[in-house]
Amino acid sequence: MNYKELAELVYPDLPHTVDDYEAMYPPRNLPEGAKVTRLGPSPTGFIHLGNLYGAFADERLAHQSGGTFFLRIEDTDDKRYVPNAVETIITSLAFFDIRFDEGVTEHGDIGVYGDYTQSHRGEIYRTFAKEMIARGKAYPCFLTEDEIQAIREEQEAAKLGPGIYAGYSPYRDWDKDPAVEEIVINKLKAGEDFVVRLRSEGKPNAVGDEIRRNKVVDAIRGTLDVPENFQDVVMIKTTGIPTYHFAHVVDDHLMRTTHVIRGEEWLPSLPIHVEMFQDLGWELPVYCHTAQLMKIGEDGNKRKLSKRKDPELSLDYYRSMGYHPAAVREYLLTILNSNYEEWRLANPDADINDFPFSAEKMSNSGALFDLNKLNDVSKDTLLRIPAAEIADFLAKWSAEFAPEYAYAFRDMDLLTQILDLGRNDAKPRKDLVYARQIMDFIGYFFDEAFRIEDDYPAEAAADRAAILQAYLDSYDHADDQETWFGKIREIAVANSYAAKPKDYKKNPDSYKGHVGHVSTVIRIALMGRAQSPDVWTIQQIMGEDKVRERISKAI
Ligand code: GLU
Repeated sequence: MNYKELAELVYPDLPHTVDDYEAMYPPRNLPEGAKVTRLGPSPTGFIHLGNLYGAFADERLAHQSGGTFFLRIEDTDDKRYVPNAVETIITSLAFFDIRFDEGVTEHGDIGVYGDYTQSHRGEIYRTFAKEMIARGKAYPCFLTEDEIQAIREEQEAAKLGPGIYAGYSPYRDWDKDPAVEEIVINKLKAGEDFVVRLRSEGKPNAVGDEIRRNKVVDAIRGTLDVPENFQDVVMIKTTGIPTYHFAHVVDDHLMRTTHVIRGEEWLPSLPIHVEMFQDLGWELPVYCHTAQLMKIGEDGNKRKLSKRKDPELSLDYYRSMGYHPAAVREYLLTILNSNYEEWRLANPDADINDFPFSAEKMSNSGALFDLNKLNDVSKDTLLRIPAAEIADFLAKWSAEFAPEYAYAFRDMDLLTQILDLGRNDAKPRKDLVYARQIMDFIGYFFDEAFRIEDDYPAEAAADRAAILQAYLDSYDHADDQETWFGKIREIAVANSYAAKPKDYKKNPDSYKGHVGHVSTVIRIALMGRAQSPDVWTIQQIMGEDKVRERISKAI
């Protein structure tokens, strides 16, 4: 029996040949230099910041070069399947404005390089596995779990590298032993379970100069010096489903991916992928192995973000807290490209998509994620978004995640005015960070959320009622800001408070306090807080009735 006959025996009834597939997936007709990228999430139900980080790089590299970005669902790990996970992936990414040109969508596949769900592509993988067998580059292996365990123990005892490689699977060299050949034929004819393994040509357990190496282009890390693989890794599992390794190679070749952006946890498998690409005579994509997302842990040391410890790893966190997607995008770019912040300073009003993103400027060692930094970036980003748009965003967010704030959306014009408070000054206020924080921050405008949070200042607490009564008596909603403050000064003086803080500081014994203490009493009665944007402006937004009502209540 030759290799071809074995291949025929392993997979007798496949409707297409490798040439058919090459014709069905022709090279893409794209302009010179256009990049084709893909996101290949597994539908585990957990979509995280790392996915978004990679997706963003994919999206920028493709769209900036006039290329194509597609979504492929990598569901070859059947144990991890979670219902609705694909919808979650699509809607979460869409929320952050990650737009695919082709691939899986909520309404089926778009594009001619599909099917874009790996579990639907079994026949394709088997066809290429058959081709590998026919070229002597792969073989069916019938080792049982117990046999593999025994091999592992033997290797451990001999201090050899673990795994199935030359010398360990008796089925690998079937062509050198007629007895094994007969066993293989009989097992296949009897329909016994098997996996298809790569028949690696690498040198097992080589050391030092004996290790052969390959040069592989990584756009983030520069040219990598990759040791050759020697493991006979599984390509097709007993279920007929491919492993990640083989699916990656077949799909990214057929779908004509030019740039594979994936986490650095895949670097150790790169030798396997290189060997498979070479065996099939295919060109390698340009790899972009991204750095792990890290944070400064409780002990002050850098550590990986963890699903268990860090809620901020999940994309759901940003949606439920109500971070504006533009803020998250903006922040991610600051960790994705080291020159982004400088660019933003020079181009404060530019569209984020005008930034020349490059893989070369991506970090290759632990990208540091910091929620405080995100909050700072968010403050600046929200300043660039018109208040009416923020109001709409908050309304949508509340409807989905926080119906308890529904009261704030009865009057959208009022809400818009509230959100715009102090944003148009020469030194604009940066009070708005994310929806949950914003709703708390502006809560005092709404009776549903208003409460006295801060203590009245000690200097004026005893005169509270007198101050507020005088304020109420003199209040004229039509006063301009200067007249209004003049009246507060009069109230201060009439009650033995200094008209200016500096007078009080000079002669503290001559006064009970100063005008600032008096206005703080009014501020707390109106807003419940000692700190807030400008009181006069707030009163204008609140309207006369509410101002009078709040002051009367506080007396
Ligand atoms: N399915 C893989 C993962 O979720 C994708 C890796 C890749 O992009 O190649 O990690």
